[in-house]
Amino acid sequence: MATTSLLSAVSRRLEGKVAVITGGASGIGECTAKVFAHHGAKLIIADIQDALGHSLCQSIDETNCKYVHCDVTDETHVKNAVDKAVKAYGKLDIIFNNAGTSDKSYLRILKDQKNDFERVMSVNATGVFLGIKHASRVMIPARSGSIISTASVCSYIGGAASHAYTASKHAVLGLTKSAAVELGQYGIRVNCLSPYGVATPLVEKFLGRKKGDIENLFSSAANLKNVTLEAEDVANAALYLASDEARYISGHNLFVDGGYSIANPSFN
Ligand code: NAD
Repeated sequence: MATTSLLSAVSRRLEGKVAVITGGASGIGECTAKVFAHHGAKLIIADIQDALGHSLCQSIDETNCKYVHCDVTDETHVKNAVDKAVKAYGKLDIIFNNAGTSDKSYLRILKDQKNDFERVMSVNATGVFLGIKHASRVMIPARSGSIISTASVCSYIGGAASHAYTASKHAVLGLTKSAAVELGQYGIRVNCLSPYGVATPLVEKFLGRKKGDIENLFSSAANLKNVTLEAEDVANAALYLASDEARYISGHNLFVDGGYSIANPSFN
């Protein structure tokens, strides 16, 4: 690839690409939708928050951003979201498996309930599995594609969230690696992102705290000081993995955590 083509592509890094974003109606997914659209991608926003999803598409451009109700735990919904991309835009280049949920508890194994554990695993792990499966259905014949999933620092360390959440995000990393191994032969790249703390509705609910408090809490624990992690930082990492600039990156877990996961906690 000539340097000039890289330079000229910088402002519209996803021009002509088609992306499905699950959990795209709020937080990191919503911000990623705006960043991808800004860089020329055509979008399917797949979520269960219909009002938010429709209004996001209206604010972007309804010709190039379409909302579909999609519960990622339901295979027919995920299949439908992928098929909608192909029907509306003729192909699928990128899937961002970003939908996620959490439970409220921290580490309380004796109080944890099986149904809560299964609910978190179902959205965070099974939802990613179904996204990878149905994106692959379309990407394998096309011999290209970029699959990105939102994991978490909890894909790597224990103790930063509940057992269920930690287990589910380790599963995202495992799926990323195993799918990257299988799908590389078809030119499909599979990666995940591991953010630390962005003050989104998911985190507000999980911690029972407001945005300002959460930002202070996360900033004091991160290794990198004087920077507050924003949804846009995660969206820009997704943009990189989605773009052709990352054409040789596969099976990678990209941490967007200000060094949180590599620091010795006693140092801070
Ligand atoms: P958020 O609550 O703003 O967004 C999550 C989105 O997922 C929502 O729009 C929600 O409606 C959607 N969703 C939930 N269950 C769904 C389902 N069954 N089917 C389809 N959509 C569903 O929170 P966020 O922080 O932006 O979360 C996005 C992803 O980032 C999640 O996977 C989360 O685990 C991960 N993450 C977030 C942080 C953080 O600090 N915010 C850190 C690490 C990882």
